[in-house]
Amino acid sequence: MTFTIPPGAPKAASAAAFGRELVKALEVRKVPRNELWRATGIGRTALDNYRVGASLPLTEAAATLAVALDWPPLLEIVRAARERRCARCRAPFRNEGGNMGAKRYCSPACRIIAENERLASKRARQASQTGDGKRRYQEVARLRSGIRIATEQATEARGAIATMCASCEPQGLCRTADCPLRAFSPLPMATHRSVTPATRTLAIARRSARRWTPAARAAQSEKTRRLHAEGRMSIDGIRANHPAHDPLRREAWLAAIRATKARRGHTGGRRPKAVPA
Ligand SMILES: [Zn+2]
Repeated sequence: MTFTIPPGAPKAASAAAFGRELVKALEVRKVPRNELWRATGIGRTALDNYRVGASLPLTEAAATLAVALDWPPLLEIVRAARERRCARCRAPFRNEGGNMGAKRYCSPACRIIAENERLASKRARQASQTGDGKRRYQEVARLRSGIRIATEQATEARGAIATMCASCEPQGLCRTADCPLRAFSPLPMATHRSVTPATRTLAIARRSARRWTPAARAAQSEKTRRLHAEGRMSIDGIRANHPAHDPLRREAWLAAIRATKARRGHTGGRRPKAVPA
């Protein structure tokens, strides 16, 4: 199922830009749409939706198309459209949601930490109003500094993993499902094939190679030879054995046509004159 963007939605412009870029890539690479479907396994309906800008592909599909057509802008458009920054740790993350609603955090962990921070602040405020505020306040400060250190370390680790993944898969698609870095990789896991699609010329050549096997060729030339022998082939628009070209049969042929027409009530183009009243 492909999510179709309602008109006027924020990502409609990106989807339209992606569609235009896909059309351009297919044209320049001379790849028929069917071949793209065959090569990537991305469904025809989905491809049609992308082409007309009715939906924006997930990063993985965009990367697959970018690889298949050797057209990096396809991935860049989707990356730019789907990239967000976490409201807590500021790390970039992909929003792969259908309607791309208000997803604010990079991970469930960040969402929970942000929630806890809010709660702690609230408690500290309340505590300072009741008396043993100082101790509570110190607790919160310690919690905050701990979180800050962890966040900094996580950001460094994330950067290192991203660099590692980018050098392993420069095309932006992870193909190693059991990589130990998989759970932390910023790259989407490749789920589609990416075989290079055939160009228009190659697709036609393949199709005719399938159709014109040596046996099919032999059968066709046998048929042509027979038609020639029977005089049924037209040469310069004239069928050799047609009675019109045979003085011995011509009269009989014309008589047969006249007889048929008479039987069917034809008047040879002359209609009886209407009698004036
Ligand atoms: Zn985060």
